Amino acid sequence: MARPDRRINLAVARAIPPILLCIVVYACYVVTRPLCIDYLIHPLPKYHRGSRVGAGVAILVVFYLLILIVITTYLRLLYNVSRDPGLLPRASPPTKAEEPTEPSDRRHRKKGGHRRPQTAEKSDSSDEDVERGVGYNANGGAFPLDTSGLENFYTKDVFVCQEDGRPLYCSTCCIYKPDRAHHCREVDRCVRKMDHFCPWVGGVVSETSFKFFIQFVFYVLLFCAFSLIICATFTAEIKRQTRGANVHLAIGIGLSSLFGLFGLGMTLSSVQLAMLNLTTIENLNRRSAVWTLAIRVPSAMLSRLNPESRWAPTFRTITYPLPPTPLDPEAAATYQPPGERHVFAILQTLPGENPFDLGSPFQNLQQVLGHSIFDWFLPLKQSPCANRKSTETFYELGPVVSRLKKEAGLEPRTQQNPT
Ligand SMILES: [Zn+2]
Repeated sequence: MARPDRRINLAVARAIPPILLCIVVYACYVVTRPLCIDYLIHPLPKYHRGSRVGAGVAILVVFYLLILIVITTYLRLLYNVSRDPGLLPRASPPTKAEEPTEPSDRRHRKKGGHRRPQTAEKSDSSDEDVERGVGYNANGGAFPLDTSGLENFYTKDVFVCQEDGRPLYCSTCCIYKPDRAHHCREVDRCVRKMDHFCPWVGGVVSETSFKFFIQFVFYVLLFCAFSLIICATFTAEIKRQTRGANVHLAIGIGLSSLFGLFGLGMTLSSVQLAMLNLTTIENLNRRSAVWTLAIRVPSAMLSRLNPESRWAPTFRTITYPLPPTPLDPEAAATYQPPGERHVFAILQTLPGENPFDLGSPFQNLQQVLGHSIFDWFLPLKQSPCANRKSTETFYELGPVVSRLKKEAGLEPRTQQNPT
């Protein structure tokens, strides 16, 4: 049974689109009939003024153009939220026979559904096995049998991981979570680069729809600003001339002020998040979040990972593929995976650093809105950050990761000057 807050969110999500539709229809009526036709184009006798066809037609053209843009971006947003929300596939939970033979304190996280809340990291510091020092190769830990899907991570060069080097795990979906994915309780699935559950569109705003969300709230802001200006201007004029007011125009002022403020707030906060390359969820603890990253050790440096080398690393490592499990710790220590080895350094950012910040607000905005002026304003093309063509990372990474690599000696420059 759905939790009460989840049920409320879903109920609100279903109720809002019809309410929005009613408001839009009413706004069209107010501007078309009482304002443009009855006051400007064919003024009613009570107004005692001549016809102003030009002004009436101009207002109608701009108004319907704006409302067309709002509806188009809303439909594009709705389409992506419902058809391509970036949900990750769920895996079947392990059967009884496959349950890990680990102490019960490790198993409880599966039974409990969600693990305790993660920081932006996102470090899952509950794993004591990650504190075993430099060179320790995690051998499974909390979910020792679950190695399916790991190849999607260790074939990349950098991914967000737990403190033991394994990717973050969702114990509800039973999958390893790609960078920036978050479990959404309303849809009960992990969602790629989830931003928030939006009742305005009845779904999850994520990497595939955040751009259209920004465009929608921006055009709502423009539409409301225009509606407010014309309603307020002609209300003042009518009041001066007749000492009365048109009730529809007065309601129009109220509605456009209300939704205009909403549009302004949402536009400013969404654009700010895009400029910082953060999601709403990541923004919650952005000043204290510590990201743990698995960064590939270049193959030319693998020989130097020997603890007896003069170049003994200062970081912990993890080697993929992980050993088959169950396996005793001794065997894990000497385990040599068949085929290619993928060795990763486990490094952490400083609190408040964002590895996805590309270093300039403009570049961060481009990741969401696109690279041309048409992409920024037309709800056509998908965000560049949602095209998962890169084989090296889930999302483009910024100077924080370059600095971590440099400090750990993983940059090619160090490679050219071996000790
Ligand atoms: Zn999940």
